[in-house]
Amino acid sequence: MAVNIPMYDVIVLGLGGMGASTVFECARRGQRVLGIEQFPLVHDRGSSHGQTRVIRQAYYEHPDYVPLLRRAYDRWYDLEQVSGARLFVECGVLSLSPPGGEVVAGVTQAAREHGLPIETLSNANLHNRFPEFRVPSDYDGAFEPHAGYLYVEECVRAYLDAAREAGAVLQAEERVLRWQATRSGVEVETTHGRYAADRLIITAGAWAGQVMAELGLPLEVLRKPLLWFEVAEPERLRRDRFPIYMVESPGGFYYGFPMTDSRGHKLARHDGGLPVADPLHPQREPLPEDESDCRKFLERYIPAAAGRLLHHAVCMYTVTPDRHFILDVHPEHPRVVLGAGFSGHGFKFASVIGEILADLSESGRSQLPIDRFRIDRFLKSV
Ligand SMILES: Cc1cc2nc3c(=O)[nH]c(=O)nc-3n(C[C@H](O)[C@H](O)[C@H](O)COP(=O)(O)OP(=O)(O)OC[C@H]3O[C@@H](n4cnc5c(N)ncnc54)[C@H](O)[C@@H]3O)c2cc1C
Repeated sequence: MAVNIPMYDVIVLGLGGMGASTVFECARRGQRVLGIEQFPLVHDRGSSHGQTRVIRQAYYEHPDYVPLLRRAYDRWYDLEQVSGARLFVECGVLSLSPPGGEVVAGVTQAAREHGLPIETLSNANLHNRFPEFRVPSDYDGAFEPHAGYLYVEECVRAYLDAAREAGAVLQAEERVLRWQATRSGVEVETTHGRYAADRLIITAGAWAGQVMAELGLPLEVLRKPLLWFEVAEPERLRRDRFPIYMVESPGGFYYGFPMTDSRGHKLARHDGGLPVADPLHPQREPLPEDESDCRKFLERYIPAAAGRLLHHAVCMYTVTPDRHFILDVHPEHPRVVLGAGFSGHGFKFASVIGEILADLSESGRSQLPIDRFRIDRFLKSV
């Protein structure tokens, strides 16, 4: 590469949810940072769009996530202060599981281990408290009051604006074609030019497998439709009387939100999803089964929300075999750090992941508990 190419302390590859918080954190620490994004900033072609994301702390996926979530909550509040925008709305999350299910049991265990307030609900309580739900009488319920939702696009925008304010250079509509680590730093070649830096942080979402092809990571990209249904009486699904829900049912794992605006009731299915061969071209048009599947769920469990389909969007999960994240230093290049495989539950952590990736990039370690996310669990030989 030529000698006179722009030189930075750190380059962040990919400016979705994770990259946005990472460029901010690096810039806040006084580093000269360049963020590169292949699409316009705050776009709808990756994994960080679609109005809202659930945020909660009684983490059924594993209690080890709770300390990270405590930190993530703090960092979201900090971002609200910095940006002056309302990003986080607390409305509570109601989890429902059939006998022997994993979600309510996991929520209860995480809450117990970490002293988090939750309410367990019998069927009679549930009916009085949240009358819109039609739940089989043998289901267990747990309500986490301090959970809620984040406005996903506003969060990404707020981080990018704050990063720019702190001095970061952000290049949009510029695709990274290749990168290499050298003895003294990293070099990145894009569709527009070449850049050099001391270090590289890769937050490429559904493209992570391609950007780090040399590692052969077992990442699978899944198509995830989001649907908004008309509600005849929207006040019945207002957030002061209708929570976010996560329903583990024999037909699938569905989650949805109270009404946030005139777009209708948003819901999606967490399990399943069609494999995506090329993240540039997932099937974006609605498939008939996207609607019929969610409608069947609504008619059975929340009939008040089963109106006309108003909107549809497609997003992508990038999943690891154990559904836990990858947050680590590249096994062959200590100047390169990776955040990948957020497995459909990463956004709520974005605020703390920026901090973790900046720590790993600066010193190779983080004070936060991230052992679970080491990359070597997926490498054949290290
Ligand atoms: C439908 C759906 C619902 C979800 N619900 C929740 C939820 O309720 N709660 C929760 O916590 N999480 C949720 N998630 C998961 C969460 O949204 C994701 O884990 C998170 O947004 C991933 O962020 P990311 O930065 O890794 O990916 P992205 O936001 O996709 O960012 C990656 C970026 O890298 C860019 N990029 C890639 N390759 C290149 C390249 N070569 N050159 C330049 N740029 C490049 C991409 O264009 C993209 O902008 C959900 C995900 C989906 C799809």
